[in-house]
Amino acid sequence: MTKRVAIIGAGCSGLAAIKCCLEEDLEPTCFEKSDDIGGLWRYTDAVEEGRASIYHSVVTNTSKEMMSYTDFPMPAEFPAYLHNSKVLDYLRLYAEHFRLLKYVYFKTEVCRVTKHANFNTTGQWDVITMNNGTQKKEIFDAILVGNGHFFKPYLPLDSFPGIEKFKGHYIHSRFYKKSDDYHGKTVLVVGIGNSAGDISTDISSAAKQVYVSTRQGSWVLSRVSNHGFPIDMLYSTRCYFRIINALPRSLRAKVIAKQMNSWFDHQNYGLHPKDWSMMKEPIVNDYLPSNILCGAVRVKPSIKKFTETSVIFEDGTEISDLDFIIFATGYSIAFPFLDDSVIKMDDENNVRLYKYVFLPHLEKQTLAFLGVLQPFGGVFPVVELQCRWATRIFNGKTQLPSLRKMEDCIQRKHDKQIKSFTKCRNQTLQMHFIEYMDEVAVEIGVLPSIAQLLFTDTRLAYHIFFGPCTPYQYRLKGPGKWTGARKAILTQWDRTLSPSRTRLIPKDQGSKFNFKRKLCMLVLVMFIFIGVYCISMTSD
Ligand code: NAP
Repeated sequence: MTKRVAIIGAGCSGLAAIKCCLEEDLEPTCFEKSDDIGGLWRYTDAVEEGRASIYHSVVTNTSKEMMSYTDFPMPAEFPAYLHNSKVLDYLRLYAEHFRLLKYVYFKTEVCRVTKHANFNTTGQWDVITMNNGTQKKEIFDAILVGNGHFFKPYLPLDSFPGIEKFKGHYIHSRFYKKSDDYHGKTVLVVGIGNSAGDISTDISSAAKQVYVSTRQGSWVLSRVSNHGFPIDMLYSTRCYFRIINALPRSLRAKVIAKQMNSWFDHQNYGLHPKDWSMMKEPIVNDYLPSNILCGAVRVKPSIKKFTETSVIFEDGTEISDLDFIIFATGYSIAFPFLDDSVIKMDDENNVRLYKYVFLPHLEKQTLAFLGVLQPFGGVFPVVELQCRWATRIFNGKTQLPSLRKMEDCIQRKHDKQIKSFTKCRNQTLQMHFIEYMDEVAVEIGVLPSIAQLLFTDTRLAYHIFFGPCTPYQYRLKGPGKWTGARKAILTQWDRTLSPSRTRLIPKDQGSKFNFKRKLCMLVLVMFIFIGVYCISMTSD
């Protein structure tokens, strides 16, 4: 009998989940609380309860080739980085292309998911939903949770003495939409995540003055890297990842710091991260340094206290005419439909999931979590790979290891996380994109073998090792193999660069390589390729 899978949410995770269920002969039923697909990526002027809310200006901080699903490249005409409306367009194209919409029940909230009476033998779940005031209870064989984790604001008001006296306005960044309300105002943005960076630069053109208060500081990256290429396409490569990881920790930190400071010296802009030798998600913002340079945004240290009209910082400085505060202090993960006995979340977002997907202690592995992580890279391919893995666990084609092995793995990862990442709550779910993707790909049997490709398809091997680790790499072999994957990899730069080549310019003869130079370059690159690969294999 076909197994029935309940999918919670029709955002980027839920849509991928429907497709993966269909590919694995499972019967998907997707419940979406709102009246449309897109989750976080569907902008609305009003904030909706239980759904992530974005501001109007959000642009992706991962380029389109790095964030697409593994078998569905973004249209060539889409720009390299996408405004949120374009991301939604892409999700609509995906849903249409794979005919996913007919599996989505809109305006249907999942109220409760509990173990069915015979869960220990069947692994089934009771799912209670609410649609238009009508409650319904159904039994499902498995659950895929894709409700997102940016809908519950984390606003630790206890950390801000005197906030109760403040007579101006304050909001959490979840409620920020547009800069219109901030004309001529003095605004303080608290925090230095991507929300704080975006919001402070967004309102800086309207506001009288914007201040950003940060305890830790942050590296800031531009989307535009060397020679104008998208930064993630230059640095999210297997070659770079292997070299940087082969370095001793202290040297690695210095190399990264040097790269981060090559755009501007973070010390001079008050942004230098406190624990700079530890990993921390950098923020991606093309305007922040320039706004600081022009004085529109001023960086301040931690907050000591608020008064009725002002804020006093730890260094004793004060802003006396403060109108607005925007707390861009992040989010807490929540699964309101699941009982604490199944998964209990603490305020620090610590979650003990096997490879960020499975709860090891469950008697039957019929519950999988999607996207409960923050990769240094695109989320769509990550959640899709998680879905491909989970659906194969549900239908028994792949097995999970023993409880003990899963617990050991979680502990190892936790220890590594503590050693590698800064100790702040928004870093508990950070991970390296390539490392994580490869780890899950091994579980499914879809990790490309560069050694093998070196002999059978050298050109492709070259692109996989030196080129950006685009999601199509995980469709070259194994279950779900896609015949278009090779071509998608070889044409990824065309799709990246063509949208900005909107004015044709004749090629400068002087910049053309002659044949001899090309040949020498090719031989040199081949030597480096083989050398780096051998070194990295021995360092494994
Ligand atoms: P976040 O990354 O969790 O950052 C929250 C910030 O709040 C921290 O950097 C921290 O800065 C500050 N903070 C936390 N607790 C605090 C406390 N008790 N007192 C003072 N400050 C505190 O949250 P976010 O910026 O909202 O981002 C959430 C996720 O969405 C991230 O993964 C981000 O990359 C993503 N995002 C993406 C985009 C985009 O694609 N364009 C835009 C926005 C967000 P300090 O410790 O330095 O004070």
